[in-house]
Amino acid sequence: MSTYVWNYLQEYHEERADILDAVETVFESGQLILGKSVESFEREFAAYHALPHCVGVDNGTNAIVLGLQALGIGPGDEVITVSNTAAPTVVAIDAVGATPVFVDVRAEDYLMDTTRIEAAITPRTRCLLPVHLYGQCVEMRPVLELAERHGLRVLEDCAQAHGARHHGTLAGTMGHAAAFSFYPTKVLGAYGDGGATVTADPEVDANLRRLRYYGMEQQYYVVRTPGHNSRLDEVQAEILRRKLRRLDAYIAGRREVARRYEEGLGDIPGLVLPTLAEGNDHVHYVYVVRHPERDRVIEALDAYDIHLNVSYRWPVHTMTGFAHLGYGKGSLPVTERLADEIFSLPMYPSLTADTQDKVISALRSVLDA
Ligand SMILES: *Cc1c(COP(=O)(O)O)cnc(C)c1O
Repeated sequence: MSTYVWNYLQEYHEERADILDAVETVFESGQLILGKSVESFEREFAAYHALPHCVGVDNGTNAIVLGLQALGIGPGDEVITVSNTAAPTVVAIDAVGATPVFVDVRAEDYLMDTTRIEAAITPRTRCLLPVHLYGQCVEMRPVLELAERHGLRVLEDCAQAHGARHHGTLAGTMGHAAAFSFYPTKVLGAYGDGGATVTADPEVDANLRRLRYYGMEQQYYVVRTPGHNSRLDEVQAEILRRKLRRLDAYIAGRREVARRYEEGLGDIPGLVLPTLAEGNDHVHYVYVVRHPERDRVIEALDAYDIHLNVSYRWPVHTMTGFAHLGYGKGSLPVTERLADEIFSLPMYPSLTADTQDKVISALRSVLDA
């Protein structure tokens, strides 16, 4: 059987009765849009974070778009983030008419290099957007201090960091708002698209609720523009409620997969395994390793019917679609160097030890270890 970096079927077969019951529950509820399941999921996901507010939306990209707009970010504003991220982080900033400003990442852990933020702040900077990449948090103390000192908003991109902790504090509870994706591969994944924005600020919560609902507060009266139709689907919300109860178990499963990789691959010269930044608990959304001959390794593993992935092969600032931002090649050297060497190994909680052993031994033979 072919092996991919992610596969949901094993998990579906284990959870099938619960997932199908979720679907049936919604279909029998008599309310298909913004019904009881969305409301309950929002309450439960907020409670998981000990926050008062969660607004379910249609995907993680729009969780960022609405999050930025709810925080008052729009045309003419600059938002400081990283180029070593999933493109949607930057697509969302662009979509609200703001200008993405990139800082480089740290070579050790691929996370935003917070020592570079201050130099990137201009009179137009309005928001810092740290991305808790691959399952662990950006160093938040300097982010929050700079935000305080310069009067900036902080939106956390938590699409890869459900349940991750930073000095004991949950990802998503440190900024003014935080955006989550429930894309199926994520640590908490739906059976389709989904997202949410959480906040402790009642005004931001009210903005988010209007923004996802055409800009209306009540039927059918628009109070603010731009509006969107960005509601979380009722079926996905009910599935997410069931899966939220298992989130900590999913994370434990991912940590076990990571532990087996460390045990099986930790001694291979030239292969760099993930490192944990100080104060972090990793939730291992993806298991990103590094090797100077990345493309040869990927190709060789294909021959074993093991198909690896690269998150991400092209730094956002080098993409044609963002050429207008004016970042030339060489402008973010660490990001660019990493992009040539990183690749991801299979990582999901239901990955069996058998399949993982095959990946480990194939890698060992390809790397002559
Ligand atoms: C997945 C992801 C997104 C976008 O989420 P979608 O639900 O796919 O729109 C945004 N940012 C990061 C870092 C992601 O990994």
